[in-house]
Amino acid sequence: MAYDNNNVFARILRGELPCVRLYEDADTLAFLDIMPQSVGHTLVLPKAPAEFITDMSDASLAATILSTRKLANAVQQATGAEGLLISQFNGAVAGQTVPHVHFHIIPRYPDVPLRAHGRDKADPAELAALAEKIIAALANPV
Ligand code: AMP
Repeated sequence: MAYDNNNVFARILRGELPCVRLYEDADTLAFLDIMPQSVGHTLVLPKAPAEFITDMSDASLAATILSTRKLANAVQQATGAEGLLISQFNGAVAGQTVPHVHFHIIPRYPDVPLRAHGRDKADPAELAALAEKIIAALANPV
């Protein structure tokens, strides 16, 4: 199926919709998930249009996974999470709801179950405060 130029992440990439931005470079963008499954849930996506991982060029995939690692470090540093779940869904049947490829970084905390996927919106003030911490961690990686 053809890439949908009006999917929500395409619109965020064009600046038509807001996001809680964490990181951007020539090839990738990262922002906080507005319906996080845990505190610090982050999304990393390529700027190049692609619905599935199998649609990505080698260069776009390489850039996106390198950004995912960079964000993973910063998110773990900022949240103090004990571990990170990193996932990526291809197709509605696999759980994909936004048809622009993206990696989820989902911090895990002992004895804290994950919230439902894409259901409850987070408090914008909490997301903004968290973004500040993650951006600071990106600037000072340990
Ligand atoms: P997936 O099901 O893998 O396609 O995941 C899409 C994710 O995007 C879900 O975790 C949603 O909570 C998240 N999401 C949807 N709309 C937005 C948005 N406008 N800003 C940030 N995250 C979003």
